This record gives sequence, structure tokens and C-alpha cells, in this order.
Amino acid sequence: MAVMKLPEILNLLRCPCCAAALEQREIGLFCTGSDCEYGHDPFMNLSGQPVLVDFGTSVFKRSTYAGGAVPIVRPLGLPGRILDRFRENLYGENRPAEAKAADLIGSLAHKPNAKVLVVGGGTAGSGTRELYAATTLNIVGLDVFPTELTTLVADGHQLPFAAGSFDAVWIQAVLEHVLDPQLVVQEIHRVIADDGLVYADTPFMQQVHGGAFDFHRFSLNGHRWLFRNFSQIDAGTVGGAGTSLLWSLRYFFRSFGWGNKISTLLTMPFFWIRFFDRVTSRTANSDAANGVFFLGRKSQVAMAPKEIVQYYWEMREAPAKRAARGANAPAAGMVSNPGMTGAE
Ligand SMILES: [Zn+2]
Repeated sequence: MAVMKLPEILNLLRCPCCAAALEQREIGLFCTGSDCEYGHDPFMNLSGQPVLVDFGTSVFKRSTYAGGAVPIVRPLGLPGRILDRFRENLYGENRPAEAKAADLIGSLAHKPNAKVLVVGGGTAGSGTRELYAATTLNIVGLDVFPTELTTLVADGHQLPFAAGSFDAVWIQAVLEHVLDPQLVVQEIHRVIADDGLVYADTPFMQQVHGGAFDFHRFSLNGHRWLFRNFSQIDAGTVGGAGTSLLWSLRYFFRSFGWGNKISTLLTMPFFWIRFFDRVTSRTANSDAANGVFFLGRKSQVAMAPKEIVQYYWEMREAPAKRAARGANAPAAGMVSNPGMTGAE
């Protein structure tokens, strides 16, 4: 596990309110900006991690953190943890994330001490085992709550880092939970070094999860447009229509007022529906996918609006054919994922 500690990245930190550099003093972490509120009072600290949030613009409240609580995630009891494990098995491991993690590790192998920022890294995403195990990577984790996988607490809308701080950013199952995904991707673009990489995977056909903190869904096209300031290395679907149907079933059961636990148990016997993702039509699945992923490289040239219409048809071609045309040619050192159909 190579999650970096705060002292190792102090020089990269910037104030989420005024973008000035930060300074560690005896009584806490301060902003060096002369007019900044965090110049007088230190940033809050939770479990030894600073809370680098601009509460003036964030959906999160200062009072929540000041009371020692954290938003979104409540600690799960044993039944909750067991149920979570069941649910993971129901939907299967995220194979594209696993493959893209391997690609990312490979393409950063030539960079000594490559730094990867994991936005929403409070819990390890499905398929990220290799990413966290890679001895060649230094991982900086951030989330809106501190865990052993995070370095600091922050809001993705104001990434508290200097421009060009990271060789790659990994953001998995997060962009649906942020109020302004475009702003978050703009921030990602800013903190990535020139030529740096981004991997994102985001739900498409999934019902509301995370309660009040669930705002968006993305089709393959919508997701590509979100990352229009990046050149595409690979993109595709995560889980096909079968996985989406399992999600619908669970929420169908929930619609009777049965809770999440009972609804999950009632859905379990239908786990086999997801295996149809292996045999159903790749092109049709992209219209009904459970999620979408994008692996790209920071670019200074944005995609044009007209190109996004063409993109839909290009992505329906077989990956091999697309690569042969050069429409989605993998960059040096990267391997394109032929598994467009997703999770399995
Ligand atoms: Zn400041």
C-alpha cells in the first residue's frame, strides 16, 4: 500500500478558497493568503487528516465536520458489511477498471515516483486492487471523509493542489455524486501534468444511490463530452443490459417499501441475468450499459460539438475496426481493451 502521507505532499497543497500555498505550523495547517479565513484559523482536522474544503461553496456543512461527523458514509455494522459483499457478488467485479488500472500502471512505469490522485478514494473501487498494490505508484487519496486510504479530506469541486501536481487522476463512481461534474473534470484537468492520464468510470443505468448526494448519470457520449479536453485512449461500458436489469429489479423490490437489505436478498436469486452481458449485443449494450468508463490523456485541444455526434457511431464499431481506422488508437505503451461488453 503506497498511500502518501501529508508531509510528503505539503508543497503541492493549495488553499481550496484562495489557491495560496499552505503552511504547517505547530497548531495546524494554515493558508498563507493574507486575506484568507484559513490564514487566521487552521483547517479542521479529522483523524489526523486536514479538511481542505471551501465551506462557502461546498454542499457540505462546516458544522457537520466540526461535530466530528462526516457526510454521506455511515460506518456499516456487520450485517451491512456482509450485505455489501453480497451486492458486490451480485453485480460482479469491474473488469474494465481492472484492465485500465493495469494499463495505467504500465504507462507510468517509466516515471520514477509517479503520483496518482484518487478522487473519492475513501474506499477502494471495484477492480483497483492492482492499482493500490503497485510499488511504482505513489497514491494520494482524497474523499469527503477520512479513511486509511485517504491523505486528506477535500471536495472535488476545489481540488486543493497546485496545477500539474499529478501524473494521473483516478475517479471511479464519483461524478454522479458531485453537483457540478464539469467543474470537477476541469479541476482534474488543472491538477494533471501535461500528458498526464485520467481514468473515470461513472454510472449510466443505475437508480439513485447515496440518497441526497446523487445528481447525475452519463451515457457513453455524455461521458466523452464531459472529458472533451482529453484525448481518448480507451472508453467503453461497465456492465451491460443484464447488470442494469438487476439494478432495476432491486429497485423494483424497493418500490414496495421494502428496505435495501430485503430488496438485495430478493434480487440475489436472479444473479444469473448478469451473465447475459457476455453474449448480448455489444452495440446495443452501450445504450443500456450499467456504467461507462473513459481513459484519456490531458490535451490542450477540446473536442468540437460536431465530433460528439460522430463519436456515437464510432463507438458502435468493433474496437479492432475502430483502432484500425485510428479513431481510438491506443497511445504508446497502452493496450486497448477489447472487452466493450463490460463487467465480466
Ligand atoms: Zn486561503
